[in-house]
Amino acid sequence: MIDLHTHSTASDGSCAPERLVALALEAGLTALALTDHDTLAGIERAREAAAGTGLRLLAGVEIEIAREAGEFHLLGLGLSDRRDGLEAALIQVRVDRNVRNLRMVARLQEAGFPVSMEELREIAGGEVISRAHFARLLVRKGIAGSIGAAFSRFIGKGKEFYEPRTCLALGEACALIRASGGLPIVAHPLSLGLRGPALRQELSSAKAAGVAGIEAWHPNHSVKDCQMLARLARALGLAVTGGSDFHGSNIPQRKLGRTAGGREVPDGLLDALALHRAAR
Ligand code: AMP
Ligand code: MN
Ligand code: MN
Ligand code: MN
Repeated sequence: MIDLHTHSTASDGSCAPERLVALALEAGLTALALTDHDTLAGIERAREAAAGTGLRLLAGVEIEIAREAGEFHLLGLGLSDRRDGLEAALIQVRVDRNVRNLRMVARLQEAGFPVSMEELREIAGGEVISRAHFARLLVRKGIAGSIGAAFSRFIGKGKEFYEPRTCLALGEACALIRASGGLPIVAHPLSLGLRGPALRQELSSAKAAGVAGIEAWHPNHSVKDCQMLARLARALGLAVTGGSDFHGSNIPQRKLGRTAGGREVPDGLLDALALHRAAR
C-alpha cells in the first residue's frame, strides 16, 4: 500500500510531517508523497523522519491552476532536491495568497464578523493560510454552522466573501515541476466539472501543456469513475496515480493509504509512475 497525495500542518493537514510519517509506517505504507498546498516546507522534516525506515518518501506539492469554472489542482510528484525555480514561484503564489487573505479578512470585518489574521495564523499553524482555515474560524465563532455551510454561504467560489487569488497557468506550473525533477499530475480530475468528450478534450490539452498523468484514484470519486479515469488515462498515454488526499482530523473520513471506496492504493501505481518517468 502507498499514498501519493497527503497534507501536513505545513498546509491544511492536522498532522506534523513527522507524525504523518509515523502514521504511514503504522499503516504499513511502503511509499508516501507529501503534497502540501503551495509549500515545500514540510518535505525535509518528513524526509528526516522517514530516513532509515522502510518508507520511501516522495517530495511533492499541490498547486491550484488558474481556471474560470471548476477546480484544477495540479500535483507535482517526485521532486528532486534541486527545486529553486519551483520554490521561487511558490513564494510568489504565497504572497498573492496572503494578499487575498487580507482582503477577505477586511471584508468580513467590514460586515461585522470579528475575525483576524492572528486567529487564522493560530488555526493554520504553518505558512499557508487557506479558505479551509477561514471556514474553521467561521465555525469556531459560530458564524457558520459547519465547514460546508461556511463555503456555501460565505467563502465558496462566487459567494459574498469569496476573493479570487492569482494562480499559475498550467503550462508554467508543469514546466516548473518538470524543471524540479517532478511529474505534473492532474489531481482529482472530476473537480474540473467535466465529463465525457469534454473531459477527454481537457485532459488531452493538459497533456499538450506538459501534464504526465492523472490522479484517477481519489476518495471524492466513485470506484466506477476511478476505473473510467484509469481507462481514459491509458487511452491518452497518461500515467495513473492515486491517493487519499489525507488531511488528518481536518477531513476525518480520509484514511492514509485508502482511496475511493475504501480501497488500498496499490504499490503498482508507483511502478507505473517510475516507468513513465523513465520513458519521458
Ligand atoms: P484557497 O486555496 O485558500 O482558495 O482554498 C481552497 C481550499 O479550500 C481547497 O483546497 C479545499 O481544501 C477547501 N475548499 C474549497 N471548497 C470547499 C468546499 N466546498 N468545502 C470544503 N472545503 C473546500
Ligand atoms: Mn486541502
Ligand atoms: Mn486538491
Ligand atoms: Mn490535496
